[in-house]
Amino acid sequence: MNVSQTAGGALGRIRADVQSMHAYAVQDARGLLKLDAMENPFSLPPALQAALGQRLGALALNRYPGDRGNDLKRALAAHAGMPAGFDLMLGNGSDELISLLAIACDLPGATVIAPVPGFVMYAMSAQLQGLKFVGVPLTADFELDEAAMLAAIAQEKPAIVYIAYPNNPTANLWSEAVIDRVIAAQGEQGGLVVIDEAYQPFAGKSYIGKAAQHSHVLLMRTLSKFGLAGVRLGYLMGPAALIAEIDKVRPPYNVSVLNCECALFALEHADVFDSQAAQIRAERARIFLALGRMNAVKSWPSDANMVLIRVPDAAKAFDGLKARGVLVKNVSKMHPLLANCLRLTVGTSDENVQMLAALEASL
Ligand code: PMP
Repeated sequence: MNVSQTAGGALGRIRADVQSMHAYAVQDARGLLKLDAMENPFSLPPALQAALGQRLGALALNRYPGDRGNDLKRALAAHAGMPAGFDLMLGNGSDELISLLAIACDLPGATVIAPVPGFVMYAMSAQLQGLKFVGVPLTADFELDEAAMLAAIAQEKPAIVYIAYPNNPTANLWSEAVIDRVIAAQGEQGGLVVIDEAYQPFAGKSYIGKAAQHSHVLLMRTLSKFGLAGVRLGYLMGPAALIAEIDKVRPPYNVSVLNCECALFALEHADVFDSQAAQIRAERARIFLALGRMNAVKSWPSDANMVLIRVPDAAKAFDGLKARGVLVKNVSKMHPLLANCLRLTVGTSDENVQMLAALEASL
């Protein structure tokens, strides 16, 4: 029997909407300077690498994850300053938490709303779960369109509104006053708001204090941008009664003993990661200075470890950067508001020098 024929018949069992969708795109970065995915460019200092290796070597890998997950929850709650009355659940990255939220809220007719352009997994997870997704366009300067958001909430009565604080790929923090009014509107119609603070280490601002004043606001964070993108550890904080329900749809043992121990180790050495984040913020400022001298490039303010720029020809600039060994993200096809835009991840000082020189040569 021919293997492709078997696949042909069996493919009919895969949902048509899944077959027609695009997979989450991960670019091939082999041999390139990787400035495409908002990773922390610093690795652990060698002494910490050795200490972590010892900790991981001593783990009981023959056992399912056990109580260590509770230790991690306590450590994350302390790290984040989780408010009283809140609880926390763990995800295999916040990507998994976004999927679990879609599963937990999947009632007939349920809708998810998020501003666009935004993080693609809000839409993808909703669609995969059979929920309706409504993207509300940002204004031309990437602010929340308050009237459009409030109108969409009134019309759709969404189960979930996602607010990324700061947003990806626009990198900015939206107006707190507008977010407050979105939270109020969602509260009135009985929906949830998820504030996604993936980029919190670079923002210097958080909604955690305000979230605690509501019974319908959840706060999502990840250790990915902190420096552990390879570990896969996200966490969702919110009113204990809500978290208890959402946690029921979590697959058992979703966070491995390895993820868990790495995360605990990182939190014990949070000062190392905090100083890396400070270096990244300083590098971000230097990138803006350099971009300011490139007349053909427009940039927008950033509160994250990425910078969104507009160039005369994004495809040409992207290819030119790649030919010079630098991989960034060409987001220009993501949304009409992002025409000719590239998203640059902030790297180390040397990496940024290489990226900026390659960009200037590629315009
Ligand atoms: N939220 C936002 C806004 C993101 O940009 C990303 C990843 N780029 C995520 C969540 C997912 O993070 P994680 O690595 O924890 O799955």
